[in-house]
Amino acid sequence: MFDIDVAVVEKGRHAGAHLLSGAVLDPRALEELLPDYRMRDCPLEATVRRESLWFLTGKNKFAFPAIPEPFRNDGLPIVSLSRLGYWMAAEAEKAGAAIFTGTAAISPLVENGAVCGLVTGDTGLDRQGNRRPDYLAGTELRAKVTVFGEGAAGTLAEKLQKTFSLNSGSAPQLHETGVKEVWRIPAGRIGCGEILHSFGYPLSPDTYGGGWLYAYSETELSIGFVTAINPAAPQADPHRNLQLFKRHPLVASLIEGGAPLEYGAKTITSGGLDAMGNLSGPGFLMTGESAGMLDMQRLKGIHLAMKSGMLAAETIFEALIRNDCSAAMLQGYRKRFRNSWAYEELQAARQFRQGFEKGLYHGLLQAGLQLKFPGLSLPLTRFGKKEATGETAGLKKKQKRTAPPPFRHDGLLTFSKQECLYRSGTMHEENQPCHLKINPADMTEICLGRCREEHGNPCTRFCPANVYEFTETPEPALKISASNCLHCKTCMLADPYGIITWTPPEGGGGPGYTIS
Ligand code: SF4
Repeated sequence: MFDIDVAVVEKGRHAGAHLLSGAVLDPRALEELLPDYRMRDCPLEATVRRESLWFLTGKNKFAFPAIPEPFRNDGLPIVSLSRLGYWMAAEAEKAGAAIFTGTAAISPLVENGAVCGLVTGDTGLDRQGNRRPDYLAGTELRAKVTVFGEGAAGTLAEKLQKTFSLNSGSAPQLHETGVKEVWRIPAGRIGCGEILHSFGYPLSPDTYGGGWLYAYSETELSIGFVTAINPAAPQADPHRNLQLFKRHPLVASLIEGGAPLEYGAKTITSGGLDAMGNLSGPGFLMTGESAGMLDMQRLKGIHLAMKSGMLAAETIFEALIRNDCSAAMLQGYRKRFRNSWAYEELQAARQFRQGFEKGLYHGLLQAGLQLKFPGLSLPLTRFGKKEATGETAGLKKKQKRTAPPPFRHDGLLTFSKQECLYRSGTMHEENQPCHLKINPADMTEICLGRCREEHGNPCTRFCPANVYEFTETPEPALKISASNCLHCKTCMLADPYGIITWTPPEGGGGPGYTIS
């Protein structure tokens, strides 16, 4: 047993390996945390110099004449989140934190009704769960206070939400899947720091989402597409949407003749303030997207994650000074959050995303009203919220969709999931238990029965890594290629029957992002 002041547990094989985002950074929190971040060689790819917002149809594009204030990014830095995370981990180590990379936390450690740390997973188990020669048992890491910041749809956060009923009384959470590629393109097509956002094509007006393109430099681009996750209408294919977006003349004219460098995917938490639950409980605090902190109106969450981490640190510091880590003392975190600019920002954007639950035009109308009256709770949204609960899990006829038509990749602008996957750096120890759990009875009854009939097995489409495949011979079966998994968590959110459980595989497995 040994003592450490601050320990960070990271399942990626290096810090930043599982971090993926657009991303245009609001540097407000970073400036507060490390005012000299530029002097410390913080990896900023470019500064936004020009931006545009487009509505796309299949072949045409319509530019918005003006971009409303909350959407503007002029002067903000463009970052690769994986690079930024790698750099921040090094800064944390310099400040004395111990970072355990390649270590998968599998469960909070709960004793006597309070969290007192977490449990890391065993390594060295074979496919059947038997011990391999390199077996190492998981460890209990005990702490006076544990901070959970796992990003969207965190495994431990979900357990805490259930154990401590953190979300009772809050609106249902909403999610999207973001799929991203980084491209190298010929020079002379776009200026360094130029960005664009789009909505419309290839989505129909009843599905929320849109595209982005950020120029890291004249020759390197971040291109991505966000698609709403709706388990009641699970036919969306986020990878396909990105491929179609790249084929649109607006994007194709910029990337033709270029080459993709990296590929990845991650879910996004977008319910905003109304969907946030309690931020703390006995022995623990929740930060970033684990707490639901993401401003969908600005398409930003990195600064809120940083700020929530800082507020959590202040709360813990006070608790340690007073030698009181009780749940009541940790509630100070909520108070700090409510008094911060992070709360103010989320309050102004509240219900932005919910407005789009009734379609694009409804959402735009509501967004316009909310820009005029920030923080206003609109009757239209309250109706939307009601729709998003209870019966939403049911399969409403009007929301059922047929599978999208077949899509042929050209190998130039567009690529199959399998090919994209090679550019994600994803790898896992093959000889380990499958980390995507489906009960055998559900597999027979639902996967091969009801889901097949009612939805045509949408897991084969919504997974951006081709993990789920149906084979017909020698008999119909669902093949799960778990080693392809990007850890995006789309399957556990988009599965219409809720029978897929994502569990952390051996630490170090998963994507290996370096420029996403
Ligand atoms: Fe994402 Fe699930 Fe596919 Fe893994 S299996 S890449 S978590 S959708």
